[in-house]
Amino acid sequence: MSEDFETADIGVEDGPAVPLPVVAVVGRPNVGKSSLVNRIIGRREAVVEDVPGVTRDRVAYDAEWQSTQFTLVDTGGWETSVSGLAAMVARQAEYAAQTADVILFVVDATVGITDADAAVTRVLRATNRPVVLAANKVDGSMQESDALELWNLGVGEPYPISALHGRGTGDLLDAVVEAFPDGDREVQEPEAEDGPPRVALLGRPNVGKSSLLNRLAGEDRVVVDSVAGTTRDAVDELIELGGKTWKFIDTAGIRRRFRALQGADYYATMRTGTALERAEVAVVLMDVSEPLAEQDIRVVEQVLEAGRGLVLAFNKWDVLEEDRRIYLEKEIDRQLARVAWAPRVNISARTGRHMEKLVPAVETSLAGWSQRIPTGQLNNWLKELVAATPPPVRGGKQPKILFATQAGAKPPQFVLFTTGFLEDNYRRFIERRLREDFGFEGSPIHISMRIRE
Ligand code: GDP
Repeated sequence: MSEDFETADIGVEDGPAVPLPVVAVVGRPNVGKSSLVNRIIGRREAVVEDVPGVTRDRVAYDAEWQSTQFTLVDTGGWETSVSGLAAMVARQAEYAAQTADVILFVVDATVGITDADAAVTRVLRATNRPVVLAANKVDGSMQESDALELWNLGVGEPYPISALHGRGTGDLLDAVVEAFPDGDREVQEPEAEDGPPRVALLGRPNVGKSSLLNRLAGEDRVVVDSVAGTTRDAVDELIELGGKTWKFIDTAGIRRRFRALQGADYYATMRTGTALERAEVAVVLMDVSEPLAEQDIRVVEQVLEAGRGLVLAFNKWDVLEEDRRIYLEKEIDRQLARVAWAPRVNISARTGRHMEKLVPAVETSLAGWSQRIPTGQLNNWLKELVAATPPPVRGGKQPKILFATQAGAKPPQFVLFTTGFLEDNYRRFIERRLREDFGFEGSPIHISMRIRE
């Protein structure tokens, strides 16, 4: 990762997401940047065709070469000024230098070095970023000598390619991947564990966890996944629900027979964290016959901190009195506003009320937790959002969002590449709109920034 990016983590404090390496494609108009971008992404995400007179803004895409993933940024949209071409292209190069780990500089080999190419080169040299030089339009061996001339730019070996036909692009991409900074190539999310989805059933003592587990499984039908050598060992239970098997994590802390041995408090305080580590989604149980307690909120916060999917289950609905119900709604609004995106179920472990709603709620959270937005789609969306509601001016400067990527899922993590700090309010605004337009129901979202002042 480039040292001169200030990394600011916002949202849930769980370490910043590491974005994939960024490759910016620069070059003067008509050298074939769009064709090259299309060639590299294999049209998995459509590149908007150039329309004369219409500004195609810089756009980012998901790309991959030999199992190495990266984000490809097309700076072609800055091709607006006719008069100051060299200055404009230089500005584009400057922008690329701000955001990219590697710059892919495209030159038209059949034309040779122009003033604009020279201007770009000057900017690129000053950036200290690795530059890979693509000598485009080398459609056959006839033009290969044209490519050699581009050594004179002084940015290293020109790779003769034909973006249109694909000639030479493999060697070019090898060179691009080779230039990535070390350490940025790691897998972004932990390998999915095989087996059934993993659920943690959480809540302070006496909210009804044990009763719910009994209701869902039935004491006799329980399959113990790992037999406990001692009561301290994790005991997972496989339970069939809605035609599917679910793994309930660390139920030793919930089952009465274990609790009696160990003491309820021990489990209440110690077990939540370890269960969450292993779970994908948490069902947090609350007792509606009593006011929401500090401890209830604390459990919800732990789920957020762990970055897991969340379902809020309000238990003992059978004993909820009518006037208490109004208070409850107010309490939820006030104390659980942060997690307004979590599915809610109103249940009774005692009567079995609305048990059938539990599985769909858990499935919703798992889906939101695993959701991914392709980079192209994300940036088209973001461009519109920012155009309609730009980030507020801060210290006399208007921070720009250059582009964004979803650096990971489970939970979804976004990285915004910006020219300045984005206020908390604006970050929350982005999160809200992401949820409105894409869902992410039942999952926390992480948004971090990479800032270049
Ligand atoms: P845990 O500590 O969270 O596992 O809670 P338990 O399952 O041991 O339940 C605590 C108490 O609440 C017990 O007396 C249960 O019978 C009672 N309880 C659990 N679920 C319900 C429910 O849906 N309605 C009512 N009225 N009582 C419940």
